Amino acid sequence: MTAEPTTAEAGRDFIRDIVQADLDAKKHRAIVTRFPPEPNGYLHIGHAKSIGLNFGIAQEFGGRCHLRFDDTNPTREEQEFIDSIQADVRWLGYDWGKNLFFASDYFEQLYEWAEGLIRAGLAYVDDQSQEEIRLARGTLTEPGKNSPFRDRSVEENLGLFRRMKAAEFPNGARVLRARIDMASGNINLRDPVLYRILHAHHPRTGEKWSIYPSYDFAHGQSDAIEGITHSICTLEFEDHRPLYDWLLDKLPVPSKPHQYEFARLNLTYTLLSKRVLTELVRGGHVAGWDDPRMPTIAGLRRRGVPPAAVREFIKRIGVAKANSVVDVGMLEFCIREVLNQTAQRRMAVLRPLKVVIENYPEGKVEEIEAVNHPDDPAAGTRRVAFGRELYVERDDFMENPPKKFFRLSPGNEVRLRYAYFITCREVVKNAAGEVVELRCTYDPATRGGNAPDGRKVKATMHWLSASHSKPAEIRLYNPLFANPGPDAVNFTADLNPQSLEILMDARVEADVAASHSLDVMQFERQGYFVRDKDSTADRLVFNRTIGLRDAFAKEVGKG
Ligand code: ATP
Ligand code: MG
Repeated sequence: MTAEPTTAEAGRDFIRDIVQADLDAKKHRAIVTRFPPEPNGYLHIGHAKSIGLNFGIAQEFGGRCHLRFDDTNPTREEQEFIDSIQADVRWLGYDWGKNLFFASDYFEQLYEWAEGLIRAGLAYVDDQSQEEIRLARGTLTEPGKNSPFRDRSVEENLGLFRRMKAAEFPNGARVLRARIDMASGNINLRDPVLYRILHAHHPRTGEKWSIYPSYDFAHGQSDAIEGITHSICTLEFEDHRPLYDWLLDKLPVPSKPHQYEFARLNLTYTLLSKRVLTELVRGGHVAGWDDPRMPTIAGLRRRGVPPAAVREFIKRIGVAKANSVVDVGMLEFCIREVLNQTAQRRMAVLRPLKVVIENYPEGKVEEIEAVNHPDDPAAGTRRVAFGRELYVERDDFMENPPKKFFRLSPGNEVRLRYAYFITCREVVKNAAGEVVELRCTYDPATRGGNAPDGRKVKATMHWLSASHSKPAEIRLYNPLFANPGPDAVNFTADLNPQSLEILMDARVEADVAASHSLDVMQFERQGYFVRDKDSTADRLVFNRTIGLRDAFAKEVGKG
């Protein structure tokens, strides 16, 4: 996994070039973009790319960006998703101001326009079943077949369409189709479905409608109603553009937006599809939409990823017209880069091993000064209690160390960060032969972590007082998928069984208990951590946002 990002020049891409050229040519008075989520799931980091692009362009070119819910499919849409999407866009740092819209706001207008198409002989009611329509559509190499209902009279079509609206027919009995060309080379133009019958409760319009417009019939017209100048979407809609343009051309719309397509974000070890994410949640493979292993905005937030890191990532990956897969290491790099600057340092012992300092007086406690941020003196210092009984990291001790191991081992001297040099004198084991305690001595002359005689030690370790530190549960996360290119169809086979590791006996510095769930801290030598919402008054829970270094580099660099 490469951590060094190779970036396209940030801030310039083919879409921004188009926008600039349109402004130079005075095509528009102001740039208007939109982010059009369907409220059928939580937003993921792929959506963040689209959000960054649409809101970013509006900001940079002095225009505005609308948040528009594409709420045309009531069977899958929920208020919870509408709320979470707004919270997530805000958290990312973007603001739609007064420009919050819903495609359902336009249902009345869309319906009128559909009647207009019927009157112009450009739409008809088809009684074929969904399956019959699919079979008659043809293939990339074969033309489709005209529906036997294609030549109904305007009056008959109008009458049937009105009865569809009046809830006279069951789901699936009829659809309204555009009358374009069943032999078109573009399958999207082979009489696409404009309206289908759906008896369902809509989160906003309730039971009012029993017919709903298709994506294609709602999207471009909504853009036109809102005066969108640049309708930016992902490449899978490229083949829909001729239909988008056809509808805008045939309907008396108030403006003529233009659709542009860019490559969606794909990430290694990650699936960015709401269908998959929904199944992960429903199937209980994760703890919910905000499980910190999820690539959702809510998951990233709960994990401790700062919004600035997501924005930095979006900037670095750039915008292109060709599909590609971005190394998840690039996202991790951005997270570390932001947190390294902002996170206060603390000490935590993830897998504790007891140390008793034999020559340290019983009952004595010292307050040792520790810096909160090595590069930011303004972050100040804090005091950490030091005593006779401590915890160190179990991994920092080896009874029979290999040659290059400089941390604690019998007879070896190390520095306890900010405190003293200690030397391991004796190893205490339980009946099973496991090391349960180390008996050590300290050198009182090394207070602050330096020897007056100038002698050196090769390792500095973190530590905590056994009686002053607090117990904590720490959750470590690894990629949700074990495979860099997980299979979107059989994704459960690619799930990483080690994606969550829970450490029940960790210890943290006492003041960490008071940290707010948005304060990401660096636990020295371990990584970045944030308090989880599962914490209670007597049980602290922390999430590891990310380790200090790339997991692979770390294995090599361990000394
Ligand atoms: P999914 O494919 O995950 O189900 P979607 O495209 O159906 O997502 P929408 O709510 O329709 O989800 O998406 C809103 C906007 O976000 C669309 O303009 C879509 O093109 C864009 N978008 C979705 N996924 C990505 C992605 N991976 N990268 C960039 N943009 C994306
Ligand atoms: Mg979609």
